Amino acid sequence: MDYEIVIGLECHVQLLTQSKMFCGCATDYDGAPPNTRVCPVCLGLPGALPVINRKAVEYTVITGLALHCQIAEFAKFDRKNYHYPDLAKGYQISQYDLPLTRQGWLDVEVEGQTKRVGITRVHLEEDTAKNTHLGETSLVDYNRAGVPLMEIVTEPDLRSPEEARVFASNLRRILRWIGVSTGDMEAGALRVDANISVRPQGQAKFGTKTEIKNMNSFRAVKLALEYEAQRQIDVLEHGGRIVQETRGWVEGEGRTVSQRSKEFAHDYRYFPEPDLPPLVLSSTEVERLRAQLPELPEARAERLMARYGLSQYDAGVLTGSRAVADYYEAAVAAHGNGKAVANWVSGEMFRLLRGATLEIEAVPVSPQALAELLRLVDDGTIGISVAKTVLEEMFATGQRAGEIVRAKGLTQISDQDQLRQVAADIIAANPKAVADYRGGKPTAVKFLVGQVMRATRGQANPTVASEILEQLLNESNGRQPS
Ligand code: ADP
Ligand code: ZN
Ligand code: MG
Repeated sequence: MDYEIVIGLECHVQLLTQSKMFCGCATDYDGAPPNTRVCPVCLGLPGALPVINRKAVEYTVITGLALHCQIAEFAKFDRKNYHYPDLAKGYQISQYDLPLTRQGWLDVEVEGQTKRVGITRVHLEEDTAKNTHLGETSLVDYNRAGVPLMEIVTEPDLRSPEEARVFASNLRRILRWIGVSTGDMEAGALRVDANISVRPQGQAKFGTKTEIKNMNSFRAVKLALEYEAQRQIDVLEHGGRIVQETRGWVEGEGRTVSQRSKEFAHDYRYFPEPDLPPLVLSSTEVERLRAQLPELPEARAERLMARYGLSQYDAGVLTGSRAVADYYEAAVAAHGNGKAVANWVSGEMFRLLRGATLEIEAVPVSPQALAELLRLVDDGTIGISVAKTVLEEMFATGQRAGEIVRAKGLTQISDQDQLRQVAADIIAANPKAVADYRGGKPTAVKFLVGQVMRATRGQANPTVASEILEQLLNESNGRQPS
C-alpha cells in the first residue's frame, strides 16, 4: 500500500535578549560555571516575583509579523504545572489559550514547487534547567532556566521529511535575519521537535502521530523523519498499530527510540499566571514594530532577481543571510554589474570563506575592494584567472587589488610582439596539436591558448593570444599569407 506522510513541527527558539524572561539574570550561560546565572526568581524561591522581559515580547511579535501571523491585542501567560527538577518552581510559565500571535504561514520550496505551511501559533515561555545524569546522581544547572524561549508551532501541513528540513532551514534564515536568535541547532538555540504520522494514500483521517526529539541539525531532522515514517509504515504493514508517544533520535544508531508514551501523559492543569499582568498590545505598538522589520529574505530575493537579472538559485544563495545580501548589494553599488558581482561573490568569495571557515561578517575583502578588482578585469588590466589569484591574495593579506597587481607585475599581457614570441614557442613545442589544427580541427587552438596562458602564468590576454596563434598557424600553413 502507498502511504502519505504528515508532519507538523514545534520549534523552540532561544531569544537573543541580554536578560532572562522574568528576572535580570544574564542569558550568557554558554560555558559559564553551573548555577552562576541564577537569582531567587529563576530558582523559584518562595515570594520571588517575575517581571516580563519587554524585549522578549517584542522579538516574539516581530517573529509573528515575519511569519504573517495575527498579533493578539490581548495575551496572557499561564502556568504549565509539572514536577521535574528542570524547573524549580514546579511549573513553567508559558502561554496556553491566548498566545501572542497565531495563524501565519511560511512558504517552502521543494523540487521547484512552492508550498504554504500554516503557522498555528508563536508563543513565549521560559527555558528549563539542564540536567546531567551521572549513574545514581543527577546534577542540575539552573543557568538556562528562565531564558526566553519562543515556541513556533506549525499546522500538520508538511508532507515529506525534505519539506520539514527545508521549512526548518527557512525558519532559521528568518530568525537570524530579523536578529531574534542565533538559530544554532547544535547549541540548542533552535530545537525542532517533529510530530509525524502516516496514512494510506487517499484516507482523509490523519494517522496516530509520534513526536520526535533530539535532532540537532537539519540533516538529522530529515534522517530521523525518514526513519520514523518507514518504522510506522512497517508497523502498519505487519498489522500493528502506532502508539502515540515521544521518541528520541539516536544520531549514532540512526534510529528513533521510545522515550515516553502518552499513557503517562501529564495533565498540566494550565491556569493563568497570577503573578503577571496580561499583555495588552496596542495597534500603535504593533505598527511601530512592523515598521522596523527589514525587507525579508524572500522579498529581497525577488527584488534581486528583478533588479539584477539573477537566477532564482543565485538570488537564494545571496540571501542566505542578511549579511551576505548586504555585502552583495554594497559590491554592486560600487561596481555596477549585478550579475558579474553575483558570480564572484557566490563563486570565488564563498569558496575562500569556506576554506577559511569564516562567515561573511568577517570577510577580509570589503565590497569596495572587490569592486576594484572587478574593474581591473573590466578594463583588461588583468584576466580572469589572474584575478582569482589576486583575490586569494587580497583575502589572505587584506591588500587592495591594484597594489597586488603592481607589486607582483601581474598586468595582463596584450602586447602583440611579446605574445607572438610565446605563441611561436608553443607551436614549436606542440606538433600534435598543430597537426590536428591543420587536419581540420579548429578547436585544437583552444589547447594551444591554454598552453600560452600557462607559460605566462595566466597573464596572457586569451583573446589576443588566440588571434596570434591562428595567424601563425595559418601563415606557416601557407594558406593565408599575411
Ligand atoms: P497535541 O494535542 O498532541 O499537542 P496538537 O494538535 O496540539 O497535538 O499538535 C501538535 C503538533 O503536532 C502540531 O505541530 C501539529 O501540526 C502536529 N500534528 C497534529 N496532529 C498530527 C498528525 N496526526 N500527524 C502529524 N502531525 C500532527
Ligand atoms: Zn534569575
Ligand atoms: Mg497541543
